[in-house]
Amino acid sequence: MSVTVRPTVITGNWKMYKTISEAVSFIEGLIPFASKTHAEVGLAVPFTILPSAAKAAQNSLIKVGAQNLNAEKEGAFTGEISGRMLTDAGASFVIVGHSERRRLFHETDAMINKKLKGALHAGLRTIVCIGETLEEHQQGKVQTVLQKQIEQSFEGITEEQLKNVILAYEPVWAIGTNQTATPEIAQKAHRFCREVMARKWGEIPAEKVVIQYGGSVKADNAASLLEQADVDGLLVGGASLSLDSFSKIIRL
Ligand code: PEP
Repeated sequence: MSVTVRPTVITGNWKMYKTISEAVSFIEGLIPFASKTHAEVGLAVPFTILPSAAKAAQNSLIKVGAQNLNAEKEGAFTGEISGRMLTDAGASFVIVGHSERRRLFHETDAMINKKLKGALHAGLRTIVCIGETLEEHQQGKVQTVLQKQIEQSFEGITEEQLKNVILAYEPVWAIGTNQTATPEIAQKAHRFCREVMARKWGEIPAEKVVIQYGGSVKADNAASLLEQADVDGLLVGGASLSLDSFSKIIRL
């Protein structure tokens, strides 16, 4: 029996925080830690920071990415940014479907599916976020919600394309609330997501997908989450804004 060894991928999501100079000094400070960890380290930064962040990280193991994109290649879409523009600005990955985008900007699974396709077409590794709300969690609907989100946001994605995708399980009730999911809750949800993917693409491709956990990850709870068999990485919001806490997390 072969055992799939998945890389550990730890990504910081800076949301709408940091200026260019703050980002550059953060990255310069993070480089020595990133060179000593076995984890792949990424920072999803605001659009305005991308070129400077990519330049600051260019001779390091840190990957720089974006937090959103428009699914189209180009066009009359005032204020939007395409995948091609992101790669041009130095991004190697992008996040789609973050719960803040779903909730505040009314993004649906169908829109996320289009963004995923646009991102992959532009050559961006794509982190697809899914997760249930508190209400859904309390009503015992976790698996129904996750299954629907996977089926709809991955509609038409081939096994080949799946190789460039990371799934992030981010229970909405855990994001920015200090209410981290227990390692057991995270493991159960991740295992379920992998089973859904196995039904769609087969067991071997599903075993290869990196599944990150996100939701109030801190230096003191990251290790117990990463110990779980199907928790292959972390998507870190608030704790990625401080060099002290993020460098502690990537060292685990
Ligand atoms: C996030 O924004 O993806 C996130 C998980 O935020 P936090 O770590 O602050 O809960």
